This record gives sequence, structure tokens and C-alpha cells, in this order.
Amino acid sequence: MTEPRAFHGPSDLHLHSDHSDGTESPAQVLASAHAAGLRTVALTDHDTTSGWAEAAAAARALGVALLPGMELSARHEWRSVHVLGYLFDPDDDGLRALTDRIRRSRLTRAREMAGRIERDFDLTWDDVLGQTAVGASVGRPHLADALVAKGHVRDREEAFAGILHPRSDYYVELYAPDPVTAVAAIAHAGGVPIVAHAAGRGAVLPDRVIERMLRAGLAGFELGHRENREPGLTRLRALVAERDLIATGSSDYHGWGKPNRLGEYTTDDEMVARIIDRATGSAPVLP
Ligand code: AMP
Ligand code: FE
Ligand code: FE
Ligand code: ZN
Repeated sequence: MTEPRAFHGPSDLHLHSDHSDGTESPAQVLASAHAAGLRTVALTDHDTTSGWAEAAAAARALGVALLPGMELSARHEWRSVHVLGYLFDPDDDGLRALTDRIRRSRLTRAREMAGRIERDFDLTWDDVLGQTAVGASVGRPHLADALVAKGHVRDREEAFAGILHPRSDYYVELYAPDPVTAVAAIAHAGGVPIVAHAAGRGAVLPDRVIERMLRAGLAGFELGHRENREPGLTRLRALVAERDLIATGSSDYHGWGKPNRLGEYTTDDEMVARIIDRATGSAPVLP
């Protein structure tokens, strides 16, 4: 007999607020998600848990189930890798040290990029701060918003395609741990690590790196995501089936910061249950 579940779908487990590069506060994100018909969500800001309390209060008020989470920045060689972590202990020393270091680097790096841009464009660090919520995990999207506000580009998309592109002279690299370290840090904090947009642009991490991530506690892959492409998707679907891993689908909502619509991809109840069962670091907020 299966027990009745305390949550149900539709579930969207990858949402950003203005605690990183989303454009809505955590409470607004929860309200938008509820209005869009979602019944289970995760707040996954980049490298920060500072939105958790506000999101939890809003989830309780709305009767939405919430999995507190994060999207941890990592890098393999030249390639940026994002690892979603769910239901970890936000006070875990190792994970906190890692995210503190990444956020410090985000700040130094954004200032450095703004300084380089300022040589050629009318743009100051204050302009960037004006686009960044106090205490937010700052990133290129905030630089993009400042460039838009100053009329140098039309939108975030144009900023990312030019001035903020990794091959641009204005680009400065962010400190980010390797993906095995990122996975291990989340797992050690009792969380459930899942590779975000795991076949983004069709590329998948090399097998040997994935094997090491699995040994470090990797639980699965985000297979439903608008950036995922073949042939990577087919390879990962096979791996998930073969190893009985967790597969999720999510929108990666950023408010108006990206075209991604709430609930455009969702995660099956069965998979949400496996994430909750596997986690030991913190409890979901259940209605
Ligand atoms: P950063 O981590 O500061 O290097 O910035 C990367 C972030 O920018 C990612 O989290 C994406 O959500 C966001 N991003 C990347 N490309 C775009 C784009 N074309 N439009 C809007 N946001 C983007
Ligand atoms: Fe983002
Ligand atoms: Fe991401
Ligand atoms: Zn994301």
C-alpha cells in the first residue's frame, strides 16, 4: 500500500528570486508559482540560501509545498556547471564556506567587470548596485540590467551575446569549485545534488567526471529544461534508467529576467518523493 503524500504536483523545482538573478522577491515568486497552478516548488537561487525564510513563510500562507534549495556554481575545465542542491542543512560549515567564497568572488568579479566596461561605456558600479537587491548573490545579469538601464543594450539577451560574453574583453572569470567538490559539499550537508540543465546545448560532462560525481553523492539530472538538447539528452536518459537515478524537469524561472515560463517543465511526484526521502539536511515545507 502506498501512503498518501503530503505534497502533489505540478512541481517546478528550479526557480530564482532577486536573492540572485531573478526579478521577483521570494514571496512574489511563490505567489506567481501558485497563480500559475504549481503546487510544489523549490527556490534555487545561485550560491545563496538567504531567500529561504521568506519563501517558506509565503509557501505556508499559500498552501504550496516548498523544497528549499540552491543552484551551486561549479566549473569543469572551461565549462560552467550548475549543481542544484535540495534540502541540505543551510548551516553546514563546509557548504557555507564554499558558498561564501563563491559569493565573495561574485562581488569582486562583478566590480572588476564593471570597471572594465566603464572604460568604454557610461556605466558605474553604483549603476550595477542600483539593479541588485541588497545582499543578493550578484552576477552578470545585474551588469546586464545596468547596461539596459543606461541604454547600451536592449535586453539581458543582447548583453550576454556581446559585452558580457565569456570571450569579451570585459569578461572576468568567477571562482567556482569543480563539480565533484560541489556535489560532495551538498551531499555532506545532507542535501540531494542534481545537475542542472544537464544536457545544455547538447553537451554532457565526460563519463569519468560523471562517475566521480556519482561516487561523491550525485542523485540525478535535470532532464526537462528548455536548454537541454540531443545528443546529450538521450545519453543521460539511458544513464538515469540504467542506474535508477532521479530525473527532474523544471522551468529555471527568473521573473522577467529570462523568457522561461513557470511550469514549462515539471517533475513527477515519484521523483519529488525520492528527493524528499533521500534528504537528511532539512525538511520540506509541506502544506
Ligand atoms: P554568472 O553566474 O554571473 O556568470 O551569470 C550566469 C547567469 O546568467 C546564469 O545564471 C543565467 O541564469 C544568466 N544568463 C545567462 N545567459 C543569459 C541570457 N541570455 N539572458 C538572461 N540571463 C542569462
Ligand atoms: Fe541565473
Ligand atoms: Fe543554471
Ligand atoms: Zn538556474
